Amino acid sequence: MTKEEVLKKYFGYDSFRPLQAEIIETIIAQKDCMVLMPTGGGKSICFQVPAMVMPGITLVISPLIALMQDQVQALKSNGIPAAFLNSTLSTIEQRTIEEDCKNGSLKLLYISPEKLFSNNYLGFIKTLNVNQIAIDESHCVSTWGHDFRPEYIQLKALKDTFPNVPMVALTATADRVTRKDILNQLGIPEALIFISSFDRPNLNLRVLPGRNRLKVIHEFIAKRTNQSGIIYCLSRKNTEDVAEGLRKLGIRAMHYHAGLDAQTRAEVQDAYIKDEIQVIVATIAFGMGIDKSNVRFVIHYSLPSNVESFYQEIGRAGRDGMKSDTLLFYSFGDIITRKEMIQKSELPDEMKEVQLAKLERMKQYAESEICRRRVLMSYFNEETNNDCGNCDVCQNPPQRFDATIFAQKALSAIARAEQKAAMGMLIDILRGSQNRSIYEKGFQNLKTFGVGKELKYEEWAEYITQMLNSGIVDIAYDEHHYLKLNPVSWQVLKNERKVELVRFEPYDVKKARLDED
Ligand code: ADP
Ligand code: ZN
Repeated sequence: MTKEEVLKKYFGYDSFRPLQAEIIETIIAQKDCMVLMPTGGGKSICFQVPAMVMPGITLVISPLIALMQDQVQALKSNGIPAAFLNSTLSTIEQRTIEEDCKNGSLKLLYISPEKLFSNNYLGFIKTLNVNQIAIDESHCVSTWGHDFRPEYIQLKALKDTFPNVPMVALTATADRVTRKDILNQLGIPEALIFISSFDRPNLNLRVLPGRNRLKVIHEFIAKRTNQSGIIYCLSRKNTEDVAEGLRKLGIRAMHYHAGLDAQTRAEVQDAYIKDEIQVIVATIAFGMGIDKSNVRFVIHYSLPSNVESFYQEIGRAGRDGMKSDTLLFYSFGDIITRKEMIQKSELPDEMKEVQLAKLERMKQYAESEICRRRVLMSYFNEETNNDCGNCDVCQNPPQRFDATIFAQKALSAIARAEQKAAMGMLIDILRGSQNRSIYEKGFQNLKTFGVGKELKYEEWAEYITQMLNSGIVDIAYDEHHYLKLNPVSWQVLKNERKVELVRFEPYDVKKARLDED
Protein backbone atom coordinates (compact mmCIF):
# COMPACT_ATOMS: atom_id res chain seq x y z
CA MET A 1 0.00 0.00 0.00
CA THR A 2 1.16 3.56 -0.64
CA LYS A 3 1.28 6.08 2.15
CA GLU A 4 -1.76 7.86 0.75
CA GLU A 5 -3.73 4.61 0.74
CA VAL A 6 -2.71 3.89 4.33
CA LEU A 7 -3.76 7.39 5.38
CA LYS A 8 -7.15 6.96 3.78
CA LYS A 9 -7.81 3.35 4.74
CA TYR A 10 -6.71 3.38 8.37
CA PHE A 11 -7.06 7.00 9.40
CA GLY A 12 -9.79 8.20 7.08
CA TYR A 13 -7.90 11.31 5.98
CA ASP A 14 -7.59 12.48 2.38
CA SER A 15 -4.37 14.43 2.57
CA PHE A 16 -1.27 14.90 4.65
CA ARG A 17 -0.62 17.97 6.68
CA PRO A 18 2.47 20.02 5.81
CA LEU A 19 5.70 18.03 6.33
CA GLN A 20 3.98 14.74 7.14
CA ALA A 21 4.51 13.34 3.63
CA GLU A 22 8.19 14.40 3.55
CA ILE A 23 8.83 12.88 6.95
CA ILE A 24 7.20 9.61 5.96
CA GLU A 25 9.24 9.50 2.73
CA THR A 26 12.42 10.06 4.72
CA ILE A 27 11.67 7.19 7.06
CA ILE A 28 10.75 4.85 4.24
CA ALA A 29 14.06 5.80 2.60
CA GLN A 30 15.72 4.44 5.80
CA LYS A 31 17.00 7.82 6.99
CA ASP A 32 17.00 9.06 10.59
CA CYS A 33 15.03 12.18 11.32
CA MET A 34 13.67 14.45 13.99
CA VAL A 35 10.12 15.78 14.01
CA LEU A 36 9.26 18.97 15.86
CA MET A 37 5.59 19.75 15.83
CA PRO A 38 3.41 21.40 18.40
CA THR A 39 1.01 19.30 20.41
CA GLY A 40 -1.85 18.30 18.18
CA GLY A 41 0.24 18.91 15.09
CA GLY A 42 -0.03 15.32 13.91
CA LYS A 43 3.24 13.70 14.92
CA SER A 44 1.89 10.19 15.39
CA ILE A 45 0.89 9.74 11.76
CA CYS A 46 4.53 10.39 10.83
CA PHE A 47 5.61 7.01 12.18
CA GLN A 48 2.31 5.15 12.11
CA VAL A 49 1.94 5.42 8.34
CA PRO A 50 5.48 4.15 7.57
CA ALA A 51 4.85 1.33 10.04
CA MET A 52 2.01 0.16 7.80
CA VAL A 53 3.82 0.76 4.51
CA MET A 54 6.98 -1.17 5.39
CA PRO A 55 7.27 -4.89 6.12
CA GLY A 56 8.21 -5.73 9.73
CA ILE A 57 7.41 -4.17 13.07
CA THR A 58 7.84 -0.61 14.39
CA LEU A 59 9.16 -0.05 17.87
CA VAL A 60 7.70 2.98 19.63
CA ILE A 61 9.41 4.19 22.79
CA SER A 62 7.06 6.15 24.97
CA PRO A 63 7.53 7.36 28.53
CA LEU A 64 3.97 7.42 29.78
CA ILE A 65 1.90 4.32 30.32
CA ALA A 66 -1.39 6.18 29.97
CA LEU A 67 -0.26 7.67 26.68
CA MET A 68 0.73 4.26 25.34
CA GLN A 69 -2.57 2.72 26.22
CA ASP A 70 -4.54 5.50 24.56
CA GLN A 71 -2.50 5.36 21.38
CA VAL A 72 -2.68 1.59 21.11
CA GLN A 73 -6.41 1.69 21.73
CA ALA A 74 -6.85 4.30 19.01
CA LEU A 75 -4.75 2.27 16.56
CA LYS A 76 -6.66 -0.93 17.23
CA SER A 77 -9.98 0.77 16.70
CA ASN A 78 -8.64 1.90 13.32
CA GLY A 79 -7.84 -1.71 12.48
CA ILE A 80 -4.09 -1.47 12.99
CA PRO A 81 -2.51 -4.36 14.93
CA ALA A 82 -0.67 -2.71 17.82
CA ALA A 83 0.21 -3.57 21.40
CA PHE A 84 2.12 -2.15 24.33
CA LEU A 85 4.56 -3.68 26.78
CA ASN A 86 5.13 -2.15 30.16
CA SER A 87 5.20 -3.01 33.82
CA THR A 88 1.40 -3.19 34.15
CA LEU A 89 1.00 -6.40 32.14
CA SER A 90 0.73 -9.92 33.53
CA THR A 91 3.19 -12.58 32.38
CA ILE A 92 0.52 -14.24 30.27
CA GLU A 93 -0.44 -11.02 28.53
CA GLN A 94 3.21 -10.38 27.84
CA ARG A 95 3.78 -13.87 26.39
CA THR A 96 0.84 -13.42 24.00
CA ILE A 97 2.24 -10.14 22.75
CA GLU A 98 5.69 -11.65 22.31
CA GLU A 99 4.17 -14.44 20.23
CA ASP A 100 2.41 -11.86 18.05
CA CYS A 101 5.70 -10.04 17.61
CA LYS A 102 7.44 -13.21 16.50
CA ASN A 103 4.81 -14.41 14.06
CA GLY A 104 4.66 -10.99 12.44
CA SER A 105 1.04 -10.20 13.18
CA LEU A 106 1.83 -6.94 15.03
CA LYS A 107 2.76 -3.76 13.19
CA LEU A 108 3.51 -1.45 16.11
CA LEU A 109 4.92 -2.30 19.51
CA TYR A 110 4.87 0.43 22.16
CA ILE A 111 7.38 -0.12 24.90
CA SER A 112 8.67 1.83 27.89
CA PRO A 113 12.43 2.35 28.25
CA GLU A 114 12.37 0.56 31.61
CA LYS A 115 10.89 -2.53 30.05
CA LEU A 116 13.19 -2.42 27.05
CA PHE A 117 16.32 -2.43 29.18
CA SER A 118 15.17 -4.85 31.86
CA ASN A 119 16.35 -8.49 31.85
CA ASN A 120 18.10 -8.14 28.52
CA TYR A 121 14.76 -7.60 26.83
CA LEU A 122 16.64 -5.90 24.03
CA GLY A 123 18.01 -9.34 23.22
CA PHE A 124 14.49 -10.51 22.41
CA ILE A 125 13.66 -7.36 20.43
CA LYS A 126 16.81 -7.96 18.38
CA THR A 127 15.35 -11.18 17.04
CA LEU A 128 12.42 -9.30 15.49
CA ASN A 129 12.22 -7.75 12.06
CA VAL A 130 12.30 -4.15 13.32
CA ASN A 131 11.59 -1.70 10.48
CA GLN A 132 11.60 1.61 12.37
CA ILE A 133 12.29 2.99 15.83
CA ALA A 134 10.19 5.95 16.96
CA ILE A 135 11.17 7.85 20.11
CA ASP A 136 8.11 9.72 21.32
CA GLU A 137 8.57 12.67 23.71
CA SER A 138 12.23 12.54 22.76
CA HIS A 139 13.10 15.68 24.75
CA CYS A 140 13.07 13.36 27.78
CA VAL A 141 16.54 12.18 26.73
CA SER A 142 18.10 15.60 27.22
CA THR A 143 19.05 17.07 30.55
CA TRP A 144 18.53 20.41 28.81
CA GLY A 145 14.92 19.55 28.09
CA HIS A 146 12.17 20.35 30.53
CA ASP A 147 11.23 16.78 31.34
CA PHE A 148 14.43 14.78 31.57
CA ARG A 149 13.96 11.10 32.39
CA PRO A 150 17.04 9.11 33.40
CA GLU A 151 15.64 5.91 31.80
CA TYR A 152 15.84 7.64 28.44
CA ILE A 153 19.64 7.93 28.62
CA GLN A 154 19.98 4.24 27.81
CA LEU A 155 18.23 4.73 24.47
CA LYS A 156 21.62 5.41 22.96
CA ALA A 157 22.06 1.64 22.89
CA LEU A 158 19.24 1.33 20.34
CA LYS A 159 21.13 2.86 17.44
CA ASP A 160 24.12 0.63 18.19
CA THR A 161 21.88 -2.41 18.21
CA PHE A 162 19.98 -1.43 15.07
CA PRO A 163 22.43 0.67 13.04
CA ASN A 164 20.49 0.26 9.80
CA VAL A 165 16.97 0.80 11.11
CA PRO A 166 15.67 4.35 10.66
CA MET A 167 15.12 6.20 13.90
CA VAL A 168 12.66 9.05 14.27
CA ALA A 169 12.79 11.34 17.33
CA LEU A 170 9.55 13.23 17.99
CA THR A 171 8.88 16.11 20.32
CA ALA A 172 6.55 19.03 20.73
CA THR A 173 9.07 21.22 22.41
CA ALA A 174 12.72 21.83 21.96
CA ASP A 175 14.75 24.93 21.43
CA ARG A 176 17.80 24.82 19.21
CA VAL A 177 20.37 23.69 21.77
CA THR A 178 18.08 21.03 23.18
CA ARG A 179 17.45 19.69 19.67
CA LYS A 180 21.15 19.13 19.07
CA ASP A 181 21.50 17.49 22.44
CA ILE A 182 18.62 15.10 21.78
CA LEU A 183 20.17 13.95 18.52
CA ASN A 184 23.57 13.47 20.13
CA GLN A 185 22.11 11.55 23.02
CA LEU A 186 20.26 9.25 20.65
CA GLY A 187 23.33 8.72 18.51
CA ILE A 188 21.80 10.20 15.36
CA PRO A 189 23.63 13.55 15.05
CA GLU A 190 23.12 13.62 11.28
CA ALA A 191 19.36 13.18 11.40
CA LEU A 192 17.25 15.42 9.16
CA ILE A 193 15.26 17.89 11.22
CA PHE A 194 11.67 18.72 10.28
CA ILE A 195 10.12 21.67 12.07
CA SER A 196 6.55 22.61 11.51
CA SER A 197 5.55 26.08 12.56
CA PHE A 198 4.84 26.39 16.23
CA ASP A 199 2.70 29.42 15.76
CA ARG A 200 -0.88 29.06 16.85
CA PRO A 201 -2.39 32.35 15.73
CA ASN A 202 -5.84 31.39 16.99
CA LEU A 203 -4.68 31.52 20.61
CA ASN A 204 -5.07 34.87 22.29
CA LEU A 205 -2.25 35.49 24.77
CA ARG A 206 -2.80 37.49 27.92
CA VAL A 207 -1.05 38.01 31.24
CA LEU A 208 -2.67 39.51 34.34
CA PRO A 209 -1.12 40.37 37.69
CA GLY A 210 -1.66 37.55 40.15
CA ARG A 211 -4.24 39.21 42.34
CA ASN A 212 -7.80 38.09 43.21
CA ARG A 213 -7.19 35.12 40.95
CA LEU A 214 -10.31 33.18 41.81
CA LYS A 215 -12.54 36.20 41.38
CA VAL A 216 -11.04 37.05 38.02
CA ILE A 217 -11.39 33.45 36.85
CA HIS A 218 -15.00 33.45 37.93
CA GLU A 219 -15.73 36.55 35.87
CA PHE A 220 -13.77 35.15 32.96
CA ILE A 221 -15.73 31.91 32.95
CA ALA A 222 -19.03 33.69 33.49
CA LYS A 223 -18.56 35.10 29.99
CA ARG A 224 -17.87 31.68 28.58
CA THR A 225 -20.61 29.58 30.06
CA ASN A 226 -20.72 27.07 27.23
CA GLN A 227 -17.01 26.75 26.71
CA SER A 228 -14.76 24.18 28.19
CA GLY A 229 -11.38 25.03 29.65
CA ILE A 230 -8.41 23.90 31.68
CA ILE A 231 -6.87 25.66 34.67
CA TYR A 232 -3.31 24.64 35.49
CA CYS A 233 -2.16 24.91 39.09
CA LEU A 234 1.14 24.40 40.84
CA SER A 235 0.19 21.79 43.43
CA ARG A 236 -2.39 19.09 43.99
CA LYS A 237 -3.76 20.92 46.98
CA ASN A 238 -4.04 24.02 44.86
CA THR A 239 -6.15 22.20 42.23
CA GLU A 240 -8.52 20.94 44.90
CA ASP A 241 -8.96 24.37 46.45
CA VAL A 242 -9.53 26.15 43.16
CA ALA A 243 -11.98 23.53 41.90
CA GLU A 244 -13.89 23.70 45.13
CA GLY A 245 -13.91 27.50 45.04
CA LEU A 246 -15.31 27.43 41.52
CA ARG A 247 -17.98 24.86 42.38
CA LYS A 248 -19.14 27.11 45.19
CA LEU A 249 -19.56 29.80 42.56
CA GLY A 250 -21.74 27.47 40.54
CA ILE A 251 -19.21 26.35 37.94
CA ARG A 252 -18.97 22.70 36.96
CA ALA A 253 -15.32 22.24 37.86
CA MET A 254 -13.33 19.20 38.94
CA HIS A 255 -9.74 18.78 40.01
CA TYR A 256 -7.36 16.30 38.42
CA HIS A 257 -3.89 15.27 39.55
CA ALA A 258 -1.59 12.28 39.72
CA GLY A 259 -2.60 11.59 43.32
CA LEU A 260 -6.08 10.44 42.29
CA ASP A 261 -6.58 6.76 41.70
CA ALA A 262 -6.69 5.54 38.13
CA GLN A 263 -10.44 5.03 38.09
CA THR A 264 -11.26 8.51 39.35
CA ARG A 265 -8.85 9.99 36.85
CA ALA A 266 -10.49 8.07 34.03
CA GLU A 267 -13.94 9.17 35.19
CA VAL A 268 -13.02 12.83 35.42
CA GLN A 269 -11.32 12.73 32.04
CA ASP A 270 -14.31 10.99 30.50
CA ALA A 271 -16.81 13.45 31.97
CA TYR A 272 -14.70 16.30 30.66
CA ILE A 273 -14.52 14.89 27.16
CA LYS A 274 -18.29 14.48 27.19
CA ASP A 275 -18.66 18.09 28.36
CA GLU A 276 -20.33 17.07 31.60
CA ILE A 277 -17.62 19.03 33.37
CA GLN A 278 -16.90 22.51 32.08
CA VAL A 279 -13.56 23.17 33.70
CA ILE A 280 -10.74 20.88 34.72
CA VAL A 281 -8.42 22.22 37.39
CA ALA A 282 -5.26 20.22 37.03
CA THR A 283 -1.60 19.83 37.68
CA ILE A 284 0.58 19.30 34.65
CA ALA A 285 -0.40 15.62 34.78
CA PHE A 286 -3.52 16.46 32.81
CA GLY A 287 -3.67 16.73 29.09
CA MET A 288 -1.01 14.33 27.88
CA GLY A 289 -2.63 12.31 25.17
CA ILE A 290 -6.04 13.88 25.66
CA ASP A 291 -7.79 14.47 22.38
CA LYS A 292 -10.38 17.17 22.96
CA SER A 293 -10.44 19.64 20.14
CA ASN A 294 -12.91 22.19 21.52
CA VAL A 295 -11.01 23.37 24.60
CA ARG A 296 -11.69 27.13 24.39
CA PHE A 297 -9.45 28.45 27.16
CA VAL A 298 -6.41 27.56 29.22
CA ILE A 299 -5.66 29.49 32.39
CA HIS A 300 -2.41 29.29 34.33
CA TYR A 301 -3.19 29.96 37.95
CA SER A 302 0.51 30.45 38.59
CA LEU A 303 3.66 30.72 36.56
CA PRO A 304 4.79 27.53 34.76
CA SER A 305 8.39 26.48 35.24
CA ASN A 306 9.44 27.04 31.64
CA VAL A 307 8.30 28.20 28.22
CA GLU A 308 8.13 24.69 26.74
CA SER A 309 5.68 23.49 29.36
CA PHE A 310 3.69 26.68 29.09
CA TYR A 311 3.43 26.41 25.32
CA GLN A 312 2.52 22.76 25.46
CA GLU A 313 -0.21 23.50 27.98
CA ILE A 314 -1.78 26.45 26.21
CA GLY A 315 -1.51 24.36 23.05
CA ARG A 316 -4.32 22.19 24.39
CA ALA A 317 -6.72 25.04 23.66
CA GLY A 318 -8.12 25.60 20.20
CA ARG A 319 -6.89 22.48 18.50
CA ASP A 320 -9.82 22.84 16.13
CA GLY A 321 -8.29 26.11 14.94
CA MET A 322 -11.08 28.29 16.37
CA LYS A 323 -10.36 31.38 18.44
CA SER A 324 -9.38 30.47 21.99
CA ASP A 325 -8.08 32.33 24.99
CA THR A 326 -5.13 31.88 27.28
CA LEU A 327 -4.60 33.70 30.52
CA LEU A 328 -1.52 33.64 32.70
CA PHE A 329 -1.49 35.00 36.23
CA TYR A 330 1.86 36.34 37.27
CA SER A 331 3.32 37.84 40.39
CA PHE A 332 6.83 38.26 41.67
CA GLY A 333 5.96 35.84 44.45
CA ASP A 334 5.47 33.11 41.81
CA ILE A 335 9.07 33.55 40.71
CA ILE A 336 10.29 33.24 44.25
CA THR A 337 8.22 30.10 44.82
CA ARG A 338 9.56 28.52 41.64
CA LYS A 339 13.14 29.42 42.49
CA GLU A 340 12.76 27.88 45.90
CA MET A 341 11.31 24.72 44.39
CA ILE A 342 14.33 24.41 42.11
CA GLN A 343 16.84 25.14 44.89
CA LYS A 344 15.26 22.60 47.21
CA SER A 345 14.97 19.90 44.55
CA GLU A 346 17.22 16.87 44.42
CA LEU A 347 18.63 17.87 41.05
CA PRO A 348 22.38 18.07 40.49
CA ASP A 349 23.71 21.62 40.47
CA GLU A 350 24.17 21.93 36.73
CA MET A 351 20.56 20.92 36.16
CA LYS A 352 19.42 23.48 38.69
CA GLU A 353 21.26 26.03 36.60
CA VAL A 354 19.39 24.92 33.50
CA GLN A 355 16.06 25.07 35.30
CA LEU A 356 16.79 28.54 36.64
CA ALA A 357 17.76 29.76 33.21
CA LYS A 358 14.53 28.35 31.80
CA LEU A 359 12.52 29.99 34.54
CA GLU A 360 14.18 33.25 33.60
CA ARG A 361 12.88 32.88 30.04
CA MET A 362 9.39 32.21 31.36
CA LYS A 363 9.63 35.35 33.45
CA GLN A 364 10.66 37.32 30.38
CA TYR A 365 7.50 36.16 28.64
CA ALA A 366 5.32 37.18 31.58
CA GLU A 367 6.96 40.59 31.77
CA SER A 368 7.26 41.19 28.07
CA GLU A 369 6.59 44.65 26.76
CA ILE A 370 6.83 43.49 23.18
CA CYS A 371 4.39 41.22 21.34
CA ARG A 372 4.16 38.05 23.42
CA ARG A 373 3.93 35.81 20.41
CA ARG A 374 7.24 37.16 19.17
CA VAL A 375 8.77 36.22 22.51
CA LEU A 376 7.40 32.69 22.19
CA MET A 377 8.38 32.25 18.57
CA SER A 378 11.89 33.52 19.12
CA TYR A 379 12.19 31.01 21.94
CA PHE A 380 11.54 28.25 19.43
CA ASN A 381 13.89 29.96 16.96
CA GLU A 382 11.16 30.90 14.60
CA GLU A 383 11.47 34.13 12.67
CA THR A 384 8.65 36.61 13.07
CA ASN A 385 8.74 40.08 11.64
CA ASN A 386 5.29 41.19 12.57
CA ASP A 387 3.48 41.86 15.79
CA CYS A 388 0.63 39.41 16.10
CA GLY A 389 -2.28 41.66 17.00
CA ASN A 390 -3.70 38.86 19.12
CA CYS A 391 -1.95 39.37 22.45
CA ASP A 392 -2.49 41.87 25.22
CA VAL A 393 0.72 43.76 24.45
CA CYS A 394 -0.28 44.25 20.80
CA GLN A 395 -3.79 45.20 21.78
CA ASN A 396 -2.67 47.65 24.39
CA PRO A 397 0.95 48.78 23.96
CA PRO A 398 2.60 49.94 27.19
CA GLN A 399 3.10 53.69 27.78
CA ARG A 400 6.52 54.61 29.14
CA PHE A 401 7.49 57.66 31.18
CA ASP A 402 10.54 59.08 32.96
CA ALA A 403 10.34 57.54 36.44
CA THR A 404 13.78 58.59 37.69
CA ILE A 405 12.35 60.47 40.66
CA PHE A 406 10.23 57.53 41.79
CA ALA A 407 13.18 55.18 41.41
CA GLN A 408 15.41 57.48 43.44
CA LYS A 409 12.84 57.68 46.24
CA ALA A 410 12.57 53.92 46.39
CA LEU A 411 16.31 53.35 46.25
CA SER A 412 17.13 55.89 48.91
CA ALA A 413 14.48 54.39 51.16
CA ILE A 414 16.15 51.00 50.67
CA ALA A 415 19.51 52.53 51.57
CA ARG A 416 18.13 54.28 54.65
CA ALA A 417 16.49 51.08 55.83
CA GLU A 418 19.96 49.56 55.59
CA GLN A 419 18.77 47.17 52.87
CA LYS A 420 16.67 45.32 55.40
CA ALA A 421 13.21 45.92 53.98
CA ALA A 422 11.25 43.58 51.78
CA MET A 423 8.93 44.97 49.12
CA GLY A 424 5.83 45.36 51.34
CA MET A 425 7.78 47.06 54.09
CA LEU A 426 9.51 49.36 51.63
CA ILE A 427 6.19 50.50 50.23
CA ASP A 428 4.91 51.18 53.74
CA ILE A 429 8.00 53.28 54.41
CA LEU A 430 7.55 55.22 51.17
CA ARG A 431 3.88 55.83 51.85
CA GLY A 432 4.39 56.63 55.53
CA SER A 433 2.05 53.90 56.69
CA GLN A 434 1.55 53.77 60.42
CA ASN A 435 1.69 50.09 61.15
CA ARG A 436 3.13 47.96 63.88
CA SER A 437 6.06 46.45 62.00
CA ILE A 438 7.19 49.90 60.93
CA TYR A 439 7.28 51.01 64.56
CA GLU A 440 8.94 47.80 65.71
CA LYS A 441 11.84 48.51 63.42
CA GLY A 442 11.86 52.24 64.03
CA PHE A 443 11.39 52.93 60.32
CA GLN A 444 9.05 55.84 61.12
CA ASN A 445 12.16 57.86 61.98
CA LEU A 446 13.80 57.43 58.59
CA LYS A 447 14.28 60.57 56.54
CA THR A 448 12.56 58.86 53.64
CA PHE A 449 9.49 57.92 55.64
CA GLY A 450 6.46 59.09 53.67
CA VAL A 451 8.34 60.55 50.67
CA GLY A 452 6.24 58.50 48.28
CA LYS A 453 2.76 59.33 49.51
CA GLU A 454 1.68 60.46 46.05
CA LEU A 455 1.54 56.88 44.78
CA LYS A 456 -0.88 54.16 45.81
CA TYR A 457 0.34 50.87 47.19
CA GLU A 458 -0.36 49.07 43.88
CA GLU A 459 1.53 51.69 41.93
CA TRP A 460 4.63 51.29 44.04
CA ALA A 461 4.33 47.51 43.85
CA GLU A 462 4.22 47.71 40.09
CA TYR A 463 7.12 50.15 39.76
CA ILE A 464 9.39 48.33 42.18
CA THR A 465 8.65 45.09 40.34
CA GLN A 466 9.59 46.75 37.09
CA MET A 467 12.78 48.05 38.70
CA LEU A 468 13.61 44.53 39.83
CA ASN A 469 12.93 43.19 36.38
CA SER A 470 15.15 45.71 34.70
CA GLY A 471 18.03 45.20 37.13
CA ILE A 472 17.82 48.60 38.82
CA VAL A 473 17.52 46.89 42.17
CA ASP A 474 18.10 43.34 43.42
CA ILE A 475 16.29 41.02 45.74
CA ALA A 476 17.95 38.61 48.16
CA TYR A 477 16.79 35.06 47.59
CA ASP A 478 16.78 34.13 51.22
CA GLU A 479 13.80 33.86 53.51
CA HIS A 480 13.58 37.64 54.03
CA HIS A 481 13.54 38.74 50.41
CA TYR A 482 15.10 42.08 51.35
CA LEU A 483 15.65 44.52 48.52
CA LYS A 484 19.32 45.17 47.80
CA LEU A 485 21.15 47.95 46.02
CA ASN A 486 23.46 47.12 43.14
CA PRO A 487 25.87 49.22 41.05
CA VAL A 488 23.03 50.35 38.76
CA SER A 489 21.04 51.48 41.81
CA TRP A 490 23.92 53.72 42.81
CA GLN A 491 24.16 55.25 39.34
CA VAL A 492 20.49 56.13 39.58
CA LEU A 493 20.90 57.54 43.06
CA LYS A 494 23.82 59.67 41.91
CA ASN A 495 21.78 61.00 39.00
CA GLU A 496 24.07 59.33 36.50
CA ARG A 497 21.32 57.32 34.95
CA LYS A 498 17.69 57.85 33.99
CA VAL A 499 14.95 55.30 34.62
CA GLU A 500 12.04 54.68 32.27
CA LEU A 501 9.12 52.61 33.45
CA VAL A 502 5.84 51.52 31.97
CA ARG A 503 2.95 53.61 33.21
CA PHE A 504 0.92 51.88 35.90
CA GLU A 505 -2.52 50.91 34.82
CA PRO A 506 -5.13 50.23 37.48
CA TYR A 507 -5.93 46.59 37.78
CA ASP A 508 -9.58 47.24 37.01
CA VAL A 509 -8.67 48.83 33.72
CA LYS A 510 -6.49 45.86 32.76
CA LYS A 511 -9.14 43.43 33.77
CA ALA A 512 -11.88 45.42 32.11
CA ARG A 513 -10.25 44.66 28.80
CA LEU A 514 -11.08 41.03 29.50
CA ASP A 515 -14.70 42.02 29.43
CA GLU A 516 -14.52 43.72 26.08
CA ASP A 517 -14.26 40.49 24.17
P1 ADP B 1 0.55 15.09 18.26
O1 ADP B 1 1.07 13.71 18.56
O2 ADP B 1 1.46 15.89 17.40
O3 ADP B 1 0.10 15.85 19.49
P2 ADP B 1 -1.55 13.68 16.96
O4 ADP B 1 -0.70 12.80 16.17
O5 ADP B 1 -2.23 13.12 18.16
O6 ADP B 1 -0.75 14.96 17.38
O7 ADP B 1 -2.62 14.34 15.99
C1 ADP B 1 -3.51 15.31 16.45
C2 ADP B 1 -4.83 15.18 15.72
O8 ADP B 1 -4.67 15.52 14.35
C3 ADP B 1 -5.36 13.76 15.75
O9 ADP B 1 -6.75 13.82 15.97
C4 ADP B 1 -5.02 13.24 14.37
O10 ADP B 1 -5.88 12.21 13.97
C5 ADP B 1 -5.20 14.48 13.51
N1 ADP B 1 -4.42 14.41 12.25
C6 ADP B 1 -3.13 14.07 12.12
N2 ADP B 1 -2.76 14.09 10.82
C7 ADP B 1 -3.85 14.46 10.11
C8 ADP B 1 -4.13 14.67 8.71
N3 ADP B 1 -3.20 14.50 7.78
N4 ADP B 1 -5.37 15.06 8.38
C9 ADP B 1 -6.32 15.25 9.31
N5 ADP B 1 -6.14 15.06 10.63
C10 ADP B 1 -4.92 14.67 11.03
ZN1 ZN C 1 1.22 40.23 19.83
